Amino acid sequence: MTAPIALFDVKAQQALIRPELDRRIAAVLDSGRFINGPEVAELEEKLAAFAGCAHAVGVSSGTDALQIAMMAEGIGPGDAVFLPAFTYTATAEVPLVLGATPIFVDVSSQTFNIDVDDLERRLDAVKRDGKLKPRAVVGVDLFGLPADWTEIEAICAREGMFALDDAAQAFGGSLGNRRLGCWGQATALSFYPTKTLGAYGDGGALLTNDPDRAELYRSLRTHGEGRTRYAVERTGMNGRLDTIQATILIAKLALLEGELEQRRRIGAAYDAALSGRVGIQATPKGMESARGLYTIRLPDAATRTRVQAALSAQQIGSGIYYPKPLHHQPAYAAHHAASITGGPAPLPVSEALCDQVLSLPMHPYMSEADAQRVSEVVLGAL
Ligand SMILES: *Cc1c(COP(=O)(O)O)cnc(C)c1O
Repeated sequence: MTAPIALFDVKAQQALIRPELDRRIAAVLDSGRFINGPEVAELEEKLAAFAGCAHAVGVSSGTDALQIAMMAEGIGPGDAVFLPAFTYTATAEVPLVLGATPIFVDVSSQTFNIDVDDLERRLDAVKRDGKLKPRAVVGVDLFGLPADWTEIEAICAREGMFALDDAAQAFGGSLGNRRLGCWGQATALSFYPTKTLGAYGDGGALLTNDPDRAELYRSLRTHGEGRTRYAVERTGMNGRLDTIQATILIAKLALLEGELEQRRRIGAAYDAALSGRVGIQATPKGMESARGLYTIRLPDAATRTRVQAALSAQQIGSGIYYPKPLHHQPAYAAHHAASITGGPAPLPVSEALCDQVLSLPMHPYMSEADAQRVSEVVLGAL
């Protein structure tokens, strides 16, 4: 009997640093500074240095990072926020919570990320329709692969729109010689436990090179407070990162560079075993994926069911990210239909991918031989 291979593994890493974690958590317990302890500022400095950007602001989750970023721009009713239809629900939820309208954009069949030609078409449609004001593009770096930030930045600059990077799955990825975190005008990170940098609970951060935005984010995460604690200058929220999560993240951040290296090795082993046999997420030249998830594309839903069953029989984990495009979700379908007079154009690639994608085990504590074994089971079930 061969050993099981999990989709994610949060235990192997913990075993490596458990004494340090115990020591760090005990120090916070002793200090009693559970909110805004010095570890939060220390983590923020380290995150900014890692990404190569000027400012990092710790917040309570990736979703709250997206929300604070959009609140800071004053995004609300009458505003159009462009985002991919093939992503996690949080990306679309935030504009709706703020009263804005998400405009779903189709994705590339090669990279699974936002298709900039389709973005241009939908931007034209919104302008022609005249109901909504184009305000922002949220590029998502799906499964760790950077979106086409050179193009997204150019479109946003031309149109006066806010460029927000949802890098929740991609901390550690890069384009050219710039890491994610300094693309667009702001970047949202999530520290959900299974992300490339994960806490032991919820957490997130906003990264930006703009000092004014960073100051606004600090204010908004603490109820819109001004320079003194009880001066409320704007409507904010309780969106802070707590000290215990910050100290855990400091310990884990020290491992991240090596973990990304191992993720790259696993990704390369999968690519070598699978490309040409199944669809793989193509990494454009000059990009480095953080390899948050390793996701393949199979011919159809029946093949996917068969492959998943074969993996499961060998105690190999797998997952479907995502089974439904956002414009088909009950909570969003009506908003989508009403977003453009006469109805928006179809989103065929997003719809097809939801029937075809399958994510395979990907974490830094598996081996290239594990990736090889998983690949053999996949190929054997085709
Ligand atoms: C995980 C994730 C989020 C939300 O992050 P939370 O920390 O869970 O709130 C947002 N966008 C994407 C693409 C994600 O994968």
